[in-house]
Amino acid sequence: AAELERMMSQDLQVPYVLGVTSCTAALVVALKALGIGYGDKVIVPAVTFIATAGAVISANAVPVFVDADESLNMDPNDLERVMDEDVKAIITVPILGAACDMDGIMSFAKKHGIAVIEDVAQSSGVKYKGKAQGTIGDINVFSFQMNKILTSGEGGAVTTSDPRLFERAVRYHDQGLYRPHFRDTYDFEPQDI
Ligand SMILES: *Cc1c(COP(=O)(O)O)cnc(C)c1O
Repeated sequence: AAELERMMSQDLQVPYVLGVTSCTAALVVALKALGIGYGDKVIVPAVTFIATAGAVISANAVPVFVDADESLNMDPNDLERVMDEDVKAIITVPILGAACDMDGIMSFAKKHGIAVIEDVAQSSGVKYKGKAQGTIGDINVFSFQMNKILTSGEGGAVTTSDPRLFERAVRYHDQGLYRPHFRDTYDFEPQDI
């Protein structure tokens, strides 16, 4: 896993990568790292694989659906319709290799102070304006399951540029323990969470 994490970090140009057992597991880890739970809502696209919404339910939150635009991805213009004070995050999914409108989604999230998760399960390697999908959102997830573009039979990963979210993700996936990933490359001190 350490070698995979290192290679993904270099290829995608993202500082923190955590290998996990599947993208569904990665989604739950990402939601937990963000502190999402009871009473929270998470916006998901109407067109996606069921795991995107299922992971939200596994984290005890409620998925709310927004419509697709002509790319079949989340339409940023439909986000306002479902927005309320319980919405804490957006999961956006580049479908079948088509990049999402990340500028529209990120600026909506910033305006409302909510987090963005990119679910890149179907689109490993896809870029949006020169940046890899899975490096733009606050915390992001990949799949290496046998139906995906890049497969190892089974597996997944979480990526982030935020050391605090990374630490929370590592601790959630490892019974509260913190393995000091990338200590040699990226110098950061574990923080209290
Ligand atoms: C396949 C898929 C998942 C789940 O991936 P697993 O690695 O099988 O858990 C999640 N989200 C999307 C969009 C997918 O296509």
